[in-house]
Amino acid sequence: MQIPVESPSSVVAYITGFRHMLDIAPRICPICGGILKGHGHRCRWVVSLEGVFWVPIQRMICKACRKTFSLLPRMLFAFYSCTRKLAGKIKSLWAGGAGKMAAVRHTLAAAGSSLLTPLSTLYRWAKHTD
Ligand SMILES: [Zn+2]
Repeated sequence: MQIPVESPSSVVAYITGFRHMLDIAPRICPICGGILKGHGHRCRWVVSLEGVFWVPIQRMICKACRKTFSLLPRMLFAFYSCTRKLAGKIKSLWAGGAGKMAAVRHTLAAAGSSLLTPLSTLYRWAKHTD
């Protein structure tokens, strides 16, 4: 289960501040009300306007019911590897007349983002991320 937590909108800022994540982590289990404690972290790939990063995600475990939780930074989606900012940029370029998704990818690449993402993925992000 994922618990959304506040985060900077920048991936780099999030990674830089990750060592403080336990200081701001929720401590009450949303299932049973027990106490949550740190339970290591896992990493996932994140595609952003700043580049592609291997991003740590803090895990928590409930001392009472033993359920584990991931603290999902708000800049990320639960099930898409793009940041909210990147999805918004793709949507705005696409809806704003950039036309075909290949043109959107070209625009992003020209702006310095090394976006090698397949067009089918960009369509998915543009259509299904909110
Ligand atoms: Zn619990």
